[in-house]
This record gives sequence, C-alpha cells and structure tokens, in this order.
Amino acid sequence: MTTQPADWVDRLADEVIADAQRRAELGQRDPAAPIVCASGLSPSGPIHLGNLREVMVPHLVADEIRRRGIACEHLISWDDYDRFRKVPGAIPGIDAWNAHIGKPLSSVPPPPGSPHASWAEHFRVAMTEALSALGVPFRGISQTRMYTTGSYRDQVLLAMRQRAVIDEVLGRYRTKAAPGAPAQASATADVGNAQEAEQAQGSGAATEDDGSGTGGAYYPFKPYCTACGTDFTTVIEYDEDTTELIYRCAGPGRDGNPGECGNTGVMHLDRDFHGKLVWKVDWPMRWAYEGVIFEPSGVDHQSPGSSYVVGGQVVQEVFGGWQPIGPMYAFVGISGMAKMSSSKGGVPTPADALSIMEPHVLRWLYARRRPHQSFTVAFDHEILRLYDEWDALERKVASGKGQPGDVAAYARSVGTAQGELRRTPRPLPYRALCSVVDLTGSHEAQMLRILTSMDPRIESLDQVGPRLELARTWVQSQADPSDRTVVLTEPDVALLTSLPADQREALDSLARQLDENWTLDGLTALVYGIPKVQAGLSLAEKKLSPEVKAAQRAFFATLYQLLLGADTGPRLPTLLLCLGPHRVRRLIGAAVDSADQAQG
Ligand SMILES: [Zn+2]
Repeated sequence: MTTQPADWVDRLADEVIADAQRRAELGQRDPAAPIVCASGLSPSGPIHLGNLREVMVPHLVADEIRRRGIACEHLISWDDYDRFRKVPGAIPGIDAWNAHIGKPLSSVPPPPGSPHASWAEHFRVAMTEALSALGVPFRGISQTRMYTTGSYRDQVLLAMRQRAVIDEVLGRYRTKAAPGAPAQASATADVGNAQEAEQAQGSGAATEDDGSGTGGAYYPFKPYCTACGTDFTTVIEYDEDTTELIYRCAGPGRDGNPGECGNTGVMHLDRDFHGKLVWKVDWPMRWAYEGVIFEPSGVDHQSPGSSYVVGGQVVQEVFGGWQPIGPMYAFVGISGMAKMSSSKGGVPTPADALSIMEPHVLRWLYARRRPHQSFTVAFDHEILRLYDEWDALERKVASGKGQPGDVAAYARSVGTAQGELRRTPRPLPYRALCSVVDLTGSHEAQMLRILTSMDPRIESLDQVGPRLELARTWVQSQADPSDRTVVLTEPDVALLTSLPADQREALDSLARQLDENWTLDGLTALVYGIPKVQAGLSLAEKKLSPEVKAAQRAFFATLYQLLLGADTGPRLPTLLLCLGPHRVRRLIGAAVDSADQAQG
C-alpha cells in the first residue's frame, strides 16, 4: 500500500497485513491461512455498548482486510468457562444465584423466565442477534467447549510443565501497580465511575487471580471441583509424569454454606477436563493456539502488569507464539441513560441502541472515532443531532464533497465486504419523524398524510421504515417530557390581541398562503419568506440583513408561542404540516374560511 491511509481502520489494516507477511516470512505462520483478528467477550451479564467496541474494532479491521481481497477471519471467544464472579445487582429475582458463585458461567442457570439453557447462553444469544443485525460476521468459540472436550489438553500440560517460568514472568510484575486499576481516567470523562467499573468488570477477567497452590507452590491451572462445581479449589499436588493433580475444595456444601464442600479430588490433566488455565496464561495460550494477529483490549487489560503486557511474555516464553497487535480502546459513554435498560442490568446493550437507531448509524459511532478516543451513544435528545449529522454526511458523500476520512467511515457504516446493510428507502429526518409520531399520537393514517406532504413519493409507511419505528420507540420510551410537543387546544387570545401590526400582518399573510404551499418545501419557503417580503425583498432573496434575520426569529417565536405556548419546538414547517391548515389558522387568530368551517 503506497497510498495515504484514509482513516484509522485503513492504517491498522496496513499494519496487520504487514505483520502477517513478516510472520509468514519468518516461518511462523502459513502464508495461505486467513489472517486472524480476535475479540473476547464474557457473557457474565448483559453485554453492553462498551463491550461492543471489543468486537467493532477488530470487525472493522477484518472487514477492511477482506475488502482488499485478503482472507481474514474474525474470532469471538465466548469466555463462558470463566467463573460466575458476582450476582449483578440490576437483574431482579436472582438473589438465590449467590449459590452459583465460582461455577463456570455455562453451568449457572439463566435468569428467571429465560428460554436459554444457561446464564452464559442467555447473554451470548442476545449479543449474537445484535451482531447479526449490525452485519458483523464472526466465528464464535465457546471456551467451555474447548476446555471440556480437551482441545487445549497439550497447552494445559505444557503450562503445567512450564509453571516455574510462568511464575517467574508473573513475579516480574507482582510488585508493580495492581492490575485492573483503570489507567486512563482522562479517556472516560463522560462516563460515571460506577459505569466505568461495570464496563471493566464486564470486559473480561482482568481482576482474576494469577493462580496459586499450597505452601508457596505455583500452578497456573484452576480445577472446577467435581463435587460442587465451583473453583474455590487449591492445587495440593501435581505429578508431571502421570499428570495426576490433587486439589482441595473450599466451595459451598449442599446447604450452600461457604467452605463446607471439603472435597479432596483427583484428576488427570491428560484426560479429565474440569478446569482452566488462569486468565493471564489462558489469554496468551489462545493467541498462540489461534495464531491471532490482531486483538484490541480495554484499558483494564493494558495497565502495567496487566494481562496484555504479561501475556506478551508468556506467549513467547511458554507457548512459542507472539503477542498480537493490540491497541487500547477507550470507554463508551451513554448520554440519557437508557430508561429501557434499567430492568435488564443497568447498562444499555447494543439491542437497546438498535431499538432507536439504524444499524449503520450505530456502526458509524464505532467507525468514526479512533480506538483510544472515547465517545457517547445518545439515548437522549442528542440522538436528533446525531441523525442530522448522519444525514448531512450522506448528502456530502453523495455530492462527492466528503473528506477521505468521512467517506471511509461512511462506507464502513453502510456495508461490509459482504454487501450493504438494509436501509430506510425514504429516510426523512429522524427529528421530523419524532415530531410526526409525537403530534399524531402515532396515528397511522394521519402520519401517512403528513409524511406524504413532506415527500410526495411516499405512498406507504413501509417506505419510511425502519427509521419511523425507531423514532416511534424513541419518542415512547426515551423522550423526556420536555422533548414532547404539546399543542394549545385554544387560541391564546391575550397574546393575539397584543401583537404589533407587522406581526398581525405576517400571520394573515401566512394564513392566506397556507393551502397553496402545503408541502414541506413550500411551507419552509413561506415561513422564511414572509419576513423578507415585509422588508421589501423577494421570497427567494438569499442575502439577508441582520434586521431581516431578526424579524424572521421574532416571527418564528410568535408562531411557537401561538401554537405551543413555548419558546421553541419542532421545525416550523414540520409542525405546521402535523397540525393541518385548519388548526393553524384557528390558533394564529386568522379568519376561518368556509372550507374550514365545513371541516370544523
Ligand atoms: Zn467443591
């Protein structure tokens, strides 16, 4: 590649391809094998929009590599063999789940009412559905399946043989900063501390212990007790020749009382598969096993002594592999904490976001910011501005005037190497759709009438979907009372009688010309044009003096007061279309015509 990279994805793809070629030249990988990009997700609770970055960064890089015609695979490791660490506070009805702490996530029952077989599956399926909607292809790998079928048998035996080396590598960092401490507080300015901690918790086993044994011995393997199923186990003895491992369990007994299990168990690591490598050994083992070239991680994995740094040495010194290219990605904030998510674990998920915005818009949020930049997913009225920005970008790209970085982010959002995502055929402004939903109370015939006057090509509501349904969900579930539009039921007589003559004249002029201009464009030209005509200019005049602009603002303010009793509201042409000519004339105190009388 000799051209300048268009954006961060392009640049990372260059690096990853170059690294893959270098490793092939060194004989470390098969040059014909696909390049491997990886993500790891822990289905320990709702997988939220912060975790989605763990997937989107490698997805976008893998997609760019595929667009260049190079085979590339995106793996998602489901860390469902990790221990159930704590009962999430925000999910109701699961106090009894305390008894499952220490078991693999795939052995914990799902939350009440779930159709799925386990805790891990419940949260994995929700994420898989969201990824499908987002157009993210991947190969999922269940770590439960890999461990319990013995796929990692040789790697586990190797790690146990090399335990002294691992202990020594870990020892280099044990006196340094505690792992798991968020190192990049500045990157999280708009995220609350609690949420930050929750994101760190959800993003992997960053705080898991490094492995231990009795009497100062070190073992990087943690057995799951065959009696109680938990990992409150301590390795007592290991015989390298027979691979026999003896452990004692301090897990809960039959009555759930801590420490009562007391099982002393024996397993043979060459044929009994009830346990896993500790996280700081597990992760680098998988880098080597899968030949991962690219895997980013959150800030909680990249502090000194953290799993990414330690793993880089473990993978070389023990598993004969290499550390992948692994940029740090910053936290994702949420504005207007999603009200709908409070019942499902407190932090909104990709599915929550996809209930109010189209997949390509959500993709765009992750594509347009470099991984180390934090950003915010808007659930409050900021989503209106986000959609305005998106529509502006779309027009700019269509006109061929976009900057290379913007054009690249746009292309990564609307489709992948596999094809384009489904989009709304007639994408009217989200802001306008919200106003229409709000002002008609979501009445379908009324909505269609108004939307057709906005764009005459619209013959059915299907043409405005799915954007219309998303706007409807936003209005009904997220909009603040202050975001809602309430139309006056009776004219404000006191205000009408106090209006100065020029304002009265402007309102009468509007009333007279409503019918002949009853389209979005027509009404736009009309409301902006009336103050121009009053100042002696033509309707189409573009060069306006400060006085004329002030007159426009005063006219709009009067209209908002007369229609809504408020200082601002939805865009005026949209508002007028939603109200209908009869109601507008009545509220602005214009003479009611005969047609209106017949209607009213
Ligand atoms: Zn036990």
